[in-house]
Parts: sequence; structure tokens; C-alpha cells
Amino acid sequence: MAGDLLIKGGRLWAGAGLDWPRGVVEIKAGRVSWAGAEADYPWAEPPVEVLDAQGGLVFPGLVNAHTHGAMTLFRGLADDMTLENWLTGHIFPAEAKWVNPEMVELCTLLAAGEMLLSGTTTVCDGYFCMKAAAGAYARAGMRAVVAQGVVDFPAPGVPNPARKMDVCRDFLEDCCGVHALVKPGLFAHSCYTCGPTTLRAVSEMAQAYGVPWFTHLAETSQEVREVRGRYGRPPALHLEQLGVLEGLTAVVHGVWLTPGEMDLLAGRGVAVVSCEESNMKLGSGTADLPALIRRGITVGLGTDGPASNNDLSMIGELGATSRMTKLDAMDPTAMPAAKTLELATLGSARAMGLTGLVGRLQPGYAGDVVVLQPKAPHLTPMFDPASALVNACRAADVRHVVVEGEIVVRDRRVLTFDLKAVMAEVRALAEKVRRG
Ligand SMILES: [Zn+2]
Repeated sequence: MAGDLLIKGGRLWAGAGLDWPRGVVEIKAGRVSWAGAEADYPWAEPPVEVLDAQGGLVFPGLVNAHTHGAMTLFRGLADDMTLENWLTGHIFPAEAKWVNPEMVELCTLLAAGEMLLSGTTTVCDGYFCMKAAAGAYARAGMRAVVAQGVVDFPAPGVPNPARKMDVCRDFLEDCCGVHALVKPGLFAHSCYTCGPTTLRAVSEMAQAYGVPWFTHLAETSQEVREVRGRYGRPPALHLEQLGVLEGLTAVVHGVWLTPGEMDLLAGRGVAVVSCEESNMKLGSGTADLPALIRRGITVGLGTDGPASNNDLSMIGELGATSRMTKLDAMDPTAMPAAKTLELATLGSARAMGLTGLVGRLQPGYAGDVVVLQPKAPHLTPMFDPASALVNACRAADVRHVVVEGEIVVRDRRVLTFDLKAVMAEVRALAEKVRRG
């Protein structure tokens, strides 16, 4: 049987140790069916469609393991302040006023367009009104885990906090098995916005439905002080003592984890998603990624929301993670390019419960592929694709994007929805936000 799509004519970096100067990726029924050197490809039957990379680098779609997509509306609304002031003084009030299902669908579409155009094909999005976000990612043709947000105070779509777990149940019932590319999950915001009863309820519901769940953890020193003051123990130990650490899929940030807490996460098989650009912007500190990796903890990378980054480019995140880790360790060997890329592909996939599906271009993996423009001066020459992606590449170098074997971006144009119209609508809505 011929392939549905054949990507040829480019340099293929299909994963660590899978690098061909001229490679071919064949996709059948959404999955990679063949990947390797063009000279070895058995040209038995012509494929249905051929995408010529014209010398550009071909690599697996990047995996953004943590964001809040609909916050594109609040990009640049409030910058240069502490996390606590930013959240309670600006973001929570703006969310209470402006977030609703229509806004989430619109602003998540903008996020999806931005991510696809910067080479991200899979995302983990934790926010509110997530049925609308699931619809947006499905429309964009982007792979996603959408996790319904949970906090103990009134939130968008959850005016009565006493009903928050009913909202979660309705969301899971509505979204399980509905969209081929979009899976549901739960997102307990943090230990300081979710009490013990809430954290236990989220853990139990995630287990009952067999879905992943996530939480921000040990992001700032202030958070650790607050959790210690309230419960007498640091955040990861707090989760362990509540009995919820074991079923937790991933914690986000992990900047202020103690060595003992890292051992605890390693023992419980909990992943850590690092969001280095957001940490830098909020001045939160730097996660000790080498220490996490040494313990065998899965580390993934995420952008965090567009209001604390302020973009959704995983290509930017690659460079920031590698450089910040080296700077923090004062050691240029602390985060090599190939390792950084592994975190943003296989590591992020594991941290979202998508092991074996995304992050590599090998037979059986999803046909999620990115093709870069071939002739950028800053990508010339290219001795090592991993080095080029981490140290020199820019989001705007992305030319074509394929998800599940479907071309969703061609020549930097999103094909699945009208991104220009979405941007115009978001600008109009932002004008209302500006006027207050
Ligand atoms: Zn976040």
C-alpha cells in the first residue's frame, strides 16, 4: 500500500541517533510507516502526496508540555511584577471578567496557530472552559491534552466552587473519546489555590477516568514559604502526605524542590515540566534540571502561558533551557543541545502520558513532522541539527507542519482555520480589555 504522505528532499533528524543528510518520512493512516535515508527508500508505489522539503531540516514536532492557551488574550497585559502580584492583582481579576467558553475557543485558536507556526504539534493545556479549548485544538488539527483547571475560589465556568468537581466530571464525560487528537485531563492549579480535599478529589477523579493530572509545584520561594506556613511541610512532601503524589502525572516548574522532594518524585514516578522562559520573566529561579535527570525523573519542557513568557515558541524554550541550565551550573556541558531536544520531544511526551506516540519519527510513532525553511543564513552551515535547533533556530524558520499525516501548515500558512480572522477578533476583544 502506498503512503498517504511522503516527506522527502530534506535533512532528516528523526530523533537521537537517527540523522540522515537526505531522508524520507512516509506516513500511512496518521502513523510513520517508514523513515530513513532517501537512497534506501523502496519506491514501490507512488505515495498519495509528496511534500518536498527542498533541503530544509525535517524533524519531529515539538511537544509543549505546559501552557494556558487562552491566555493569549492577556499577553503583555501585566509584566515586570512578582508572580503573586501578577496573579492576584491582574490575572485572576481579568480572568473573572473576560474568560468564557467563546473567549477560550477564540484565544485557544490563536494559541494553536502560534504554536503550529513555531513547530509545536502537541500541547498540554490547563485552563478553564476546556470543552471550548478541546474544540479549538480539534479544529486547528493540533494534538492536545486539555486539562480542566481547578481552584478553590470562583473561576471562569465554575461560579460556585462547591460544584467544581461536578464541572470536571461533566468535562471528562463530554470530552473522553470525542476528538481523535484531543485527550482530556485535570489540572489542579497549585497547593496554594487548592486545599487538601480538592487535591484528593482531583487525584481520585483522574484515577477513576484514567486521565492524566497536573499541578504547578514549587514555582517560587514565596509559594514554598506559604505551603510550609500552612501545612508545615514543603509542597511535594505535602502532596505525598495527602496520598496524591503517586497518581500525579507531572508537576510544573519544580524550581524550589529540595533534594529530598526530588527523591520523592523519582520514587513516585512523577515527571517535572520546566518552563524556563516563564521562570526567567517572573524571576522565580531556575529548576535544577541536571539534578532531576540524575535521579531518573522524566523532565519535559513547556512555555507556560503567553501572559508569563510572552510567546508560545518551543524553539525559543529550547535555547532558553539550554543556556539557563548552563549559566546556573556555570558549566557549558550541563545541558547539551541533543539532551535539550530530547526533553522537548520524548521527555514532554512522557510528562503528558503520550509515551511511544510522539517525539520521534520512527515506524509506529505519530506522523507529526516539522520542516524548516532551507536557506536561512543563521542555519548555514548545519553540522549538527540538534545544535541548529537549540542554538540558532527561530520560530519563523518553520515552513511546513504535519500532524497525524495531515499538512496543517504549508509555506507558513495555517490551512485548518482562518488565523487572520482569529487575530482580528482577538485584537478587538483586547481593545475591550484595555478599556476595562
Ligand atoms: Zn502554568
